[in-house]
Amino acid sequence: MSKVKFFNGESIPLEMHKVMIVQKLELPPIEKRLEYMQKAGNNTFLLNNRDVYMDMLTDSGVNAMSDQQQSAMLLADDSYAGSETFTRLTNKLTELFGTEYFLPAHQGRACENIIMQTFVKEGSIIPMNYHFTTTKAHIGLNGGRVEEIIIEEGTNVTSKHPFKGNMDTDKLQGLIDEHGKEKIAFVRMEAGTNLIGGQPFSLQNLKDIRKICDENGLMIVLDASLLTDNLYFIKEREEACKDMTIREITKEMMDLCDIIYFSARKLGFGRGGGISTSSKELYLEMRELVTLYEGFLTYGGMSVREMEALTVGLEESMDESIICQGPQFIEYMVNELEKAGVPVVTPAGGLGCHIDAMEFVSHIPQHEYPAGALAAALYIVSGVRGMERGTMSEQRDEDGNEVLSNMELLRLAMPRRVFTLSQVKYAIDRIIWLHGHRELIGGLRFTDEPKSLRFFFGELEAVSDWQEKLVEAFRKDFPDSL
Ligand SMILES: *Cc1c(COP(=O)(O)O)cnc(C)c1O
Repeated sequence: MSKVKFFNGESIPLEMHKVMIVQKLELPPIEKRLEYMQKAGNNTFLLNNRDVYMDMLTDSGVNAMSDQQQSAMLLADDSYAGSETFTRLTNKLTELFGTEYFLPAHQGRACENIIMQTFVKEGSIIPMNYHFTTTKAHIGLNGGRVEEIIIEEGTNVTSKHPFKGNMDTDKLQGLIDEHGKEKIAFVRMEAGTNLIGGQPFSLQNLKDIRKICDENGLMIVLDASLLTDNLYFIKEREEACKDMTIREITKEMMDLCDIIYFSARKLGFGRGGGISTSSKELYLEMRELVTLYEGFLTYGGMSVREMEALTVGLEESMDESIICQGPQFIEYMVNELEKAGVPVVTPAGGLGCHIDAMEFVSHIPQHEYPAGALAAALYIVSGVRGMERGTMSEQRDEDGNEVLSNMELLRLAMPRRVFTLSQVKYAIDRIIWLHGHRELIGGLRFTDEPKSLRFFFGELEAVSDWQEKLVEAFRKDFPDSL
C-alpha cells in the first residue's frame, strides 16, 4: 500500500494529489433509486449520471486531469494539417515507446477498426491472451476468429498468480502447428487484461511470445489501453524488473511489439486514441484508413486540446507515484471486501474491483444474469453504478441460444484521481450489507433485447418483486439514511 507508514500501523492508500475542481454529487434516497433503476430497464448503462452517487461504470474518459494537463490544453495549435500539437504528441510517443510513426484515431475501437481491416482476412486466426468486446467484434466483422489462449490461472476467480494476464506460450505454438503460420494474422496481447479483472502480463511472458513470433514471422499487436496498471504491476511483482524505472519497462515492452494501439480514454488521463509503430511499411498500410474514417493524419478525430492533454498525461503515466493510485485504491477495496467474506477477483488487478457474482448470488441461474442482477441491486442499495461483465455482455449464438460466460463479474471501475477514500469506504460498506442480504436478490429477464451489443441498450425486468423486498430490508436497517 502507500509508502507512507501510519503510526497506528494501518495500511491505507494515500492520495498523492489535492482536489482543485469539484463536481457536486447527489445521493437520491433508496425509494428513488429503485424507481430510477426500474425506469432504466435494470441496465446500469441507461441510468442518468445525475442519479448516480459513485459512477464506477468505467474508467473510460472519466479520469481526472491534472492542472498541468488543463493548462496544456490552452496552448493547443488548432490547424487542420501540420499542427504543432500533433508534433508534440508524436514526439512524446517516440520518446516513451521508441516508435517513429503515429496514427491518431478518435478512440480505441477506431484503432481496432483500422488494424483489423488492414490485417484480418476471411478465415484469419488471431491468438490473444483474452478478448475485449470491441476487439472481438471488429475481428468478426472482417471474417477472422479470436483464439483465447490465456494461462489456465487467468480465468480462476481467486488466485495468487501475479500475472493472470499471461498467454500460454505452449498453446500459441500449438495453434501455429495446427493451423500454419499463414492463417495467423498477428498475435494480440492486451495489457491489464480488461475482461478478466484488469490482470497484467509479465515482461518475461511478452519476451517468450516474441521469440515464438520471430521464429514464425508473426507480428505482435499490443493493446496498450490499460498499460499503466500493467507497468505498475510489472514493477511491483516481477523480480527481474524491480530496479527498472517505469520508463525503462515501457521502452522494453514496446520494443517487443510491432504495432501498439490504445484508447486514450484510459491511457494518459485523456480522451482519444492512436496507433504507434516503428515500421514505415505497416504505417503506410494503415494510413489511408485514418483519413477515411477518422480525420486528417494530424488529428484523426481528436480535438487538438485533448491531444495536448494526452501528451502531458502520457508523461504523467511514467510517474510511479501517479500510476500507483489506481491499483492501490483497488487493492484496498479488494482486501476489505475479502476480509468481510465478499467474493472478489484476486489478486487485486487494475481497472477496478471485480465482484464474483457467480458466487455472490450463486442461487441465480446464469440465464437470469447474476452479474446484471447484482449491478441493479447494488445501485438500489447504494447509488453506486457498476457494470455487468458476464452473460449479458455475451451475444446469443446463431440459433438464438444464450452463450453463458465463463465468469460472472460485477465490475466496479476506479476512475483515476476521482474518488476519495471515504467514498470508497462507503461503497465497501454497502457491498458488505448487500452481501449479508444476498438471498433477497433475484434474477432478471429481457423485455427488450437488441441483437448486437445488448448490454449497452437492452432493457430487463426483475423476475419477481425482489427489488421491493430489498428496499424493505434496507429500510429496516437504515430507517433514516439515504
Ligand atoms: C476500452 C478498451 C478498448 C476500446 O477503447 P474505446 O476508447 O472505448 O473505444 C479496447 N481495448 C481495451 C483493453 C479497452 O479497455
